[in-house]
Amino acid sequence: MSDYDIRDPRFARLIFGAAKLEHLWTGGRWVEGPVYVPAAKSLVWSDIPNDRLLRFDESSGAVSVFETPCGYHNGHTLDHQGRIIACEHGGRRVSRLDFDGRWTSLVDRFEGKRLNSPNDVVVHSDGSLWFSDPTYGIDTHYEGHRSEPDLDGSNVYRLDPATGAVSCLVTDMVKPNGLCFSPDETRLYVADTGATHVAGMEGLMRVYDIDAAGRPVDGRLFATSPAGLFDGIRSDAQGNIWASTGAGVAVYAPDGTHIGGIVVPEIVSNLCFGGPKRNRLYITAQTSLYSIYLNAHAAGWR
Ligand code: MG
Repeated sequence: MSDYDIRDPRFARLIFGAAKLEHLWTGGRWVEGPVYVPAAKSLVWSDIPNDRLLRFDESSGAVSVFETPCGYHNGHTLDHQGRIIACEHGGRRVSRLDFDGRWTSLVDRFEGKRLNSPNDVVVHSDGSLWFSDPTYGIDTHYEGHRSEPDLDGSNVYRLDPATGAVSCLVTDMVKPNGLCFSPDETRLYVADTGATHVAGMEGLMRVYDIDAAGRPVDGRLFATSPAGLFDGIRSDAQGNIWASTGAGVAVYAPDGTHIGGIVVPEIVSNLCFGGPKRNRLYITAQTSLYSIYLNAHAAGWR
């Protein structure tokens, strides 16, 4: 069976027909939040219900525990200095792993109220951190600590780590989840997994234009998930959006056309580009870690 679902010639140019989906590891309960750490030639990711971080050593193929307990991390990214930025369900905060090995809390409140449970985070070229804040880490004890929310809704926020200033940027989604910028940062894409809480709702991805003041505006539907829900999303250098779904990875051209996908035998939660050339797509899916080499690479990589 092919690992690919080719729907458009544009997708065929993004893959190598002979490149196989590689199964790298199994053993998690719900794995998420992969981040590629180039200087360590490693991928770090979350196993949320087990409250641990795992590390895949790209040189040896070995998988080991990176940190446990860790505070029920979900999404991660790297800042421009190469430090890991984490969304913590347990601590209900966004934090940073500093070079001395200690975690520093960057934000845990908005206007005096505790965040829900930051889910996914991306870094802007200006150094700001944009993160989603749905309630999955406080809805139950499985992925964090059950608690009532302090905030009224689930939003997307921008943190300026230099000043600590936090602004609320997206308030029109049910459960904002995975997010990414277009390569030129004129657009912000956000997955909405509100179907977990709203009967009849589909898995959605919305797109916002970034206005002259740097705020997302004119939010509109970009795509509806072909299976299950969209979760983590990433843009490649050409602006194609690689999206996690219930039946693998779905890929969308910038015009919103579903051009193809990668078939994965588990529910895909998240993905990221890695490898020395950022052309290896790492995929976290339910209990396992997978990867596949692409004829495409991460936005921002040259
Ligand atoms: Mg997520």
